[in-house]
Amino acid sequence: MSDAAPIISTVADPSIPVVIRLRELHKIYDTGGTAVHALRGLNVDIPEGQFIAIMGASGSGKSTLLNILGALDVPSEGVYELAGNASSKMTRDQLAQLRNTYIGFIFQNFNLLARSTALENVELPMVYAGRPTAMRREAAIAALTKVDLADRTHHLPSQLSGGQQQRVAIARSLVNNPPVLLADEPTGNLDSHTTREIMRILTHLHEVEKRTVIIVTHDPGIAEFAERVIILRDGDIIADQATPRRGGPAVPDVRALTLGAA
Ligand code: ADP
Ligand code: MG
Repeated sequence: MSDAAPIISTVADPSIPVVIRLRELHKIYDTGGTAVHALRGLNVDIPEGQFIAIMGASGSGKSTLLNILGALDVPSEGVYELAGNASSKMTRDQLAQLRNTYIGFIFQNFNLLARSTALENVELPMVYAGRPTAMRREAAIAALTKVDLADRTHHLPSQLSGGQQQRVAIARSLVNNPPVLLADEPTGNLDSHTTREIMRILTHLHEVEKRTVIIVTHDPGIAEFAERVIILRDGDIIADQATPRRGGPAVPDVRALTLGAA
């Protein structure tokens, strides 16, 4: 780890286009009186196709950063650009449209609709995108097949294991074919065997399908699946470096470094 100014695009080939760009980005939450400065002037370039892990103790700003990277939330100050479009120049609808085209989300608690089947859950993003019914069904079945759940299409989430529920959520994140996948602690609620299975799928989506994958994790073992790791502390980037896979140093255990890490 280094205390030098943040290095931008550590492991990037400069000829690869940047899909997400942050400049002097701040996020301040103002919850009636007490302002929380959650991100403090971040500078990050994310090239197309990179696999990035974001680490840091609880409260360091990981989810805030991921939500901004995915255009679910907007910065208080600074520049956020998605595929060359600056968020400050877009309306909310334009930003939502861009998000639907570019980004797939995967969450720790899966975020599936409890009363909807696996198939209906996976169809949902296509309902929002206004796709015709027959096309939706076909694409949802293809996505569920990809995550090895073709035989569970009519199961409700409660009838599926945690790993199966997360695979449904991955299928849902893929149906609009987004180039960028964002995952917030996607294995946080899973056992080690299921965790490996989910990481194998995410690695495939990066290596074979060439998607950009950005994953928030507390676990250095998970981070080492990535090519690059960004470590946050109190809203600042304290390290931005290649992982051992790309010739970088071992990923530090932020759980050991910082009190209060979950
Ligand atoms: P992490 O994901 O690393 O645990 P978060 O991004 O969730 O951290 O939170 C960063 C800081 O911002 C924390 O101090 C947290 O309490 C605060 N925070 C996060 N979301 C909100 C919110 N919606 N309103 C107010 N404060 C928030
Ligand atoms: Mg979080």
